[in-house]
Amino acid sequence: MKRDEARLRELGLWPPHGLRAAVPLRDPGTAAGLATAALAAAPVASAIASATVDTLDWPALDAAIRACSACGLCRTRRQAVPGTGSRTARLLVVGEAPGAEEDQRGEPFVGRAGGLLDQMLLAIGFDRTRVYIANVLKCRPPENRNPAPDEVDACAPFLQRQIALLQPAVILALGSFAARALLGGDGRVGALRGTLHAHRGVPVVVSYHPAYLLRSPQEKLRAWEDLCRLGDVLAAAGQRTDRSA
Ligand code: SF4
Repeated sequence: MKRDEARLRELGLWPPHGLRAAVPLRDPGTAAGLATAALAAAPVASAIASATVDTLDWPALDAAIRACSACGLCRTRRQAVPGTGSRTARLLVVGEAPGAEEDQRGEPFVGRAGGLLDQMLLAIGFDRTRVYIANVLKCRPPENRNPAPDEVDACAPFLQRQIALLQPAVILALGSFAARALLGGDGRVGALRGTLHAHRGVPVVVSYHPAYLLRSPQEKLRAWEDLCRLGDVLAAAGQRTDRSA
């Protein structure tokens, strides 16, 4: 109980005001629920380099990303940011694109948004050594503007290859661009969260991007609900979390 309280305090969610009762259970991650979700798989757009990328192992994939010039972002980036974490992780976290700090350090989710992501993962008993973290775009859009459709299409084979190599049990999609890249369509997080989705048979939990949560702390309660759902799906997949311990 004290450990839960400390983590909820870190997330700015204490006192909980009946927090657990508010968690939606429309699809609690049962085996039947996961099978249903798998049937709803949606494609990521294919792009120019997919045939080549599909054969790469992890080192070759990272090298290809770092050398990529398939879209105009190669001209404005400081460096490409392939991803970070365990290459045997069962949880894949997908964000939008590198920001200024990520572009400088070559690692996704650093700075304040990265710190909040770390706290979110800790809330369900994970840290960066137990997950893999990647973005839809591997290079920073100038002035942190939204990704353009042609950039998302050009970069899609890299995320697809990361998913194929990792074979995660669950994907956490953070923000609208991550959700759209994995699920297709043009839905927003507010409409997509709360339901278990799937990408090519892999369950997908959609939630708010940590950068958005920093600007909109009133949404942290919903983010906590999403983390509880993620914990349920991970537990159903046989992954130990603090919520299932
Ligand atoms: S964003 Fe993706 S497609 Fe564009 S240059 Fe970077 S790695 Fe290549």
